[in-house]
Amino acid sequence: DTFKDLGVCDQLVEACENLGWKIPSKIQAEAIPQALDGKDLIGLAQTGSGKTGAFALPILQALLNSPKAFFACVLSPTRELAIQIHEQFEALGSGIGVKCAVLVGGVNMKEQIKNLEAQPHIIVATPGRLVDHLCNTKGFSLRTLKYLVLDEADKLLNEEFEKSIDEILNVVPRERSTYLFSATMTKKVKKLQRACLRSNAVKIE
Ligand code: AMP
Repeated sequence: DTFKDLGVCDQLVEACENLGWKIPSKIQAEAIPQALDGKDLIGLAQTGSGKTGAFALPILQALLNSPKAFFACVLSPTRELAIQIHEQFEALGSGIGVKCAVLVGGVNMKEQIKNLEAQPHIIVATPGRLVDHLCNTKGFSLRTLKYLVLDEADKLLNEEFEKSIDEILNVVPRERSTYLFSATMTKKVKKLQRACLRSNAVKIE
């Protein structure tokens, strides 16, 4: 199958080609048609599997159909992963007018506030810093969010992040799509799945 066969639109097929992505990875081939069909996803996947493309392409396609600020938020347990995910969104989306912001700790808040004032479509964040902005940055909220991604969910559920994740889940709209990815399916991940995903969620392995 090609990306086009999976239902990816021409603009994004071209963006994939520009990155040298010709053939979808296994997880992309499984996830993308389901996501384009409006399903929530729960994916057992490691970094290197192409999982970022698996969630980024359906989100970008939905965004192209109805461009809105603060359309999607991706939560990552580490700065490094957040920066990598942000880079992939930029690489796939910048040619078609998609604005992305990355919100991670250890970086000046002011610069991030400026990026938020530009009304990005996509936010990639670590949980603590996202909560800092939700509490302190005027005019910023996740009320218009349509897509939430919980990446490396097993690592998002450690003690350091638990409170922030709860706070974020309390302020995102109920009506949204959610994609959860995890390297392992622990009890805590299953509990998060029950709390966050709709019952028609599709499992991808
Ligand atoms: P990820 O697992 O999402 O971190 O992706 C790992 C690497 O694979 C990244 O460098 C991507 O740019 C690359 N990649 C993702 N999907 C494809 C694809 N379909 N064909 C070739 N490379 C890909």
